[in-house]
Formats: sequence, structure tokens, C-alpha cells
Amino acid sequence: MSERLDSDETPNFSRPGEATVAARHRIPQAESLPDTAYQIVHDEIMLDGNSRLNLATFVGTWMDDEAKKLYEDSFDKNMIDKDEYPQTAAIEDNCWRMLANLWNAPDAATAIGTSTIGSSEACMLGGLAFKRRWQQARRAAGKDTSSPNLVMSSAVQVCWEKFCNYFDVEPRFVPISEEHKTLDGHGLEQYIDENTIGVVAIMGVTYTGMYEPVDEIAKALDAIQAKTGLDIPIHVDGASGAMIAPFLQPDTVWDFRLERVHSISTSGHKYGLVYPGLGWVVWREAQWLPDDLVFKVSYLGGEMPTFALNFSRPGAQVLLQYYAFLRLGIDGYTAVQQASQDVAKFLSAGIAKIGAFELWNDGSDIPVFAWRLKAGHTKNWNLYHLQDRLRMKGWLVPAYPMPDDLADLTVQRIVVRNGLSMDLAEDLLEAIQTETAYLDALESPMPVEGQHPGFHH
Ligand SMILES: *Cc1c(COP(=O)(O)O)cnc(C)c1O
Repeated sequence: MSERLDSDETPNFSRPGEATVAARHRIPQAESLPDTAYQIVHDEIMLDGNSRLNLATFVGTWMDDEAKKLYEDSFDKNMIDKDEYPQTAAIEDNCWRMLANLWNAPDAATAIGTSTIGSSEACMLGGLAFKRRWQQARRAAGKDTSSPNLVMSSAVQVCWEKFCNYFDVEPRFVPISEEHKTLDGHGLEQYIDENTIGVVAIMGVTYTGMYEPVDEIAKALDAIQAKTGLDIPIHVDGASGAMIAPFLQPDTVWDFRLERVHSISTSGHKYGLVYPGLGWVVWREAQWLPDDLVFKVSYLGGEMPTFALNFSRPGAQVLLQYYAFLRLGIDGYTAVQQASQDVAKFLSAGIAKIGAFELWNDGSDIPVFAWRLKAGHTKNWNLYHLQDRLRMKGWLVPAYPMPDDLADLTVQRIVVRNGLSMDLAEDLLEAIQTETAYLDALESPMPVEGQHPGFHH
């Protein structure tokens, strides 16, 4: 019998490359046909979840066909090559100026902003601007700069813990509780001192989807300033909410209408409705971004300022954001976000009717809500069991503990994104009803070994 060759004629799955286990940790010596390699990788990722059924993530999993075409046209563009791609660079500027206006900057012409790889990088840049500004003011006054601190809720996203860790800033966490479900300005003075570089306010806490009342936090800081003279700025981490509130809650005052808000960040790839990874950060006035953090890259024979942790980064997502802004406009974004909120409220109302549960919130801030088991409902099962039962049907609906002071409390959460239709939501609600009834019918406890949270913040 002749030796089987890796050839176009050899049927798929009987070629040498596909008839053996692919190399895992060493680059193979020999080449394979492109479609052989393609088939192997394609098949391995079949075991990944279906992203549209993943209700744990905030990150976009659907765009229309024109966006896909534009992505294909532009996935070779490097955002840092402003000289080679001046048009992409100009579009990046258009986008953050659009956001400065959307977030009510007093004058978008004197604001400053940039795209980033996501909210994490955007938050780090916001935090770095705070730290540098504080250092400069302290040095100018001949004061010590060795122990900066940043004040925030205990329910912050992990990027803020990273910022504090990587850049040597003491994190001061204000614990959330049943009475104070978010950072709301209550007792803030205990955490603030002359070494506080700023306060983080979250528009759309990842644990629950609730807004922090930025105006209340600003008022508390006004009172602190009146008493102590300390002028503490706010960075709004609007990873999800900065792209919801302008459309669904235009009267909520959380943005640059508050003078104390120096900077706002968001994830273009969450409710900005773009595929990962894209973030944005905007400063209300260029003066709040210290000059000595800004580097220059060449651009059309001149220089262009940049402030980023990365150097090379895909430019395509920036173009997709511009596409989404042009395609949807304010009316379109409002319609899309409203549709998501309608689905969130439909689901939260349905879940509230199931006797086993109690809502933590109902999705009326961002289209995200969480619930818990009613106290004393059962000893036979917990929300991790429901998470597992739903997973068997393809749905990812994570259960996890709340942060520190509430860590004994387990909640389960749904993030409604563009693409979770009312029709799919009806199927999901039915699955939750069916699986809850199954668990409630148990006559003895489910095992609890090996249970683990379905989401990390
Ligand atoms: C998602 C999220 C982040 C991190 O954003 P990435 O874009 O994933 O880097 C930060 N803060 C909040 C409140 C978030 O929801």
C-alpha cells in the first residue's frame, strides 16, 4: 500500500495531519496544507461555548454584515502607524470627540481623549493621570509623594486592583452592604486624605449592573473640600453605563456636567456595540492629562501626541466604532439599548415570579440584573447548581459571591446584550423555570464539592 500523503486529494480527516493528534506544545517540524491546519483549529474551537448564549460577558458578540465587511477591509491596520494610516488616525479623533460631546464636555475642542484596547487600559490611563497630577501638586508644595491612595467601591472591576498593584497606589475600598448597595458618598470622608489621588465612580457595577450615584459622590466630595480644602477629582468607570445612560437615562447627571469628573472611560466592545478589543478614555479638559505622560509619534511629516500602554494595536475596531456611530446615530443607539433593556426587564420580572428567588435589582440601570435565593428557601440546592443545570442546555448564567463584606451572599446574574432577542429570552426563562422546578423537586441535597464561581470581575 502506498504511503498516505498530505495532499489536496486525500479526503479530510484521513490526511496525516488530521489522522493524528495535533502538536500541542512544540511547533511541528513539517508544513501542512492550509486547509488541514484550518480544519484542526476550527474543530478544536467547536468545544468553546456559543458566545451568543453566554450571558456572563458584557462584551459584544454580534455585529451586522457591513461591519464584518469593514472588519475584513481593515484588519491589517495598526493603530500606532498614524503616518501610514492618517485617515484611521483622524477617525479615532472623530470618535473620542463624539464621545466628549455625548458625555457633555463643556467644549469638545479643548477636551482630549484616545482609543485603547479596552476599559482596563483606559482606566489605567485615567488613574495614571490622577497620580501624576497629584505628584506634581505635592512636589510643587514641597510635600511627600510616597504614599498615594485611590478610593473606590469594594465592588470595582479587577482592573482597578491591577492599577493599584502595578503602579504602587494604595487601594482604599469602601465596602458595599445591604443598606449601601453601591458607593454613594456615605461616610466617604473616612477614606479621603491629602494622599488621595482621586475617587472612582462606576456606571454599571459589574456584580449587579447598578449605577453609582456620581452626583451624590461629587456632592460628598464638595462637602469634604469645604471642610478640608482637599479638591478630589472623580474618574467615571463607565465601561458599560457610559454607552447606556446617554441614551436611556439622559436626565441622570453622571458625566462632564459634573465639574469634578475629570475623565470618563468606556469599553467600545461592550454597549459601544463593537467586537473586542476597544476602549475609550476622555478628559474633560486637556489640562487634566499631564503633558509629561504624553509621547509623540510621527504623523504626516509632523508629530501626533499619544498616551497608551500598548504600542501596536489593531486599528479596525476604531473604524468599526465610527461605523456604528454613523450607522446607528443617537436614535439607533437608543433603540438598540432600549430593546436590550426591555429584554432585561422581561427576564427579571419573570424570575421575580419564581418563588425561589429575590431580585437584587431589575435591569433598569444598564440591562443587567442579579438575583439571589430567598433566605430559607431550600437546603437542597444553591445557585451554582442552577448555573450547572442551565449550562447543560447551552446557557451560561454565572453564579458568584458578592465582594468582601457581602461575600456570604451568592447571586446569579444576566447581562442582556444586543443579540439576545425577546424570542431567545423566552426560551431562557422557560429553561430557568424548568430547572428550578427540577431542583425544587429534589428530596435530598445536591453535592456541593467542586463548585466554583462562573464569573470573575
Ligand atoms: C468590563 C469592565 C472593565 C474592564 O473592561 P475591559 O474592556 O474588559 O478591559 C472595567 N470596569 C468595569 C465597570 C467593567 O464592567
